Amino acid sequence: MTTTVPGLAERAMRAAHAHRAADPHGFHHRHDNPEAWNRWARRARVARTVATALQVPTDAVLATDDPHRTYPTRTGEVPGDLITVTDPATGSTWRFIPDHTTPGQAWLLLDRCPGCDAETSVARVATLADLGDYLAPGHNAPLLREIRDIADHQPSCTAIPQAEG
Ligand SMILES: [Zn+2]
Repeated sequence: MTTTVPGLAERAMRAAHAHRAADPHGFHHRHDNPEAWNRWARRARVARTVATALQVPTDAVLATDDPHRTYPTRTGEVPGDLITVTDPATGSTWRFIPDHTTPGQAWLLLDRCPGCDAETSVARVATLADLGDYLAPGHNAPLLREIRDIADHQPSCTAIPQAEG
C-alpha cells in the first residue's frame, strides 16, 4: 500500500475550506475593493514570511483582522494584522502582531502579562530562536522595555512602571 500525497487541486480546496472556517468575513470580502484585495495579498505574504521564520508550513499561519488594534492610514483607521500560528505537531497556538519598528521582518508575541494577566505584547520575534528564548524553562522573560500598548494592562499591573505624578 502506498500513501498518495493529495494533489494540488485537493490541497487548494482544503485550504479554501480552512480559510473560510477560520476567517469567514475576511475570506468572503477579499474581492470587495482594491484595498481589500491588497490587504488579502499582503497578509498572504505575511503568513509566508512568518511561516519561514518559525519553520512551520504556510498553512499553519493565518493573518486576520486584529479585533483590538487599528492603525491610521490616509483613508482612515484600518484593522491591524493578527497573526495566529497553529503548531501542526501539538495544536498549540501562538499569536503575534506586527512590530512596527521592523515592518515585515519581526513580530510581537502576545502572551499573558505576568503582572496582571492581560494579553499584551511580551517579546520581539524575528526567528525561531527568539521564540525559544522567550519560552525557555526558567527564563524570566523581561517584558518588552517599550511596552507597545500600556492600555492592554490592568491599572494594578505590577509589571509595568507606574506613571509618575
Ligand atoms: Zn500587565
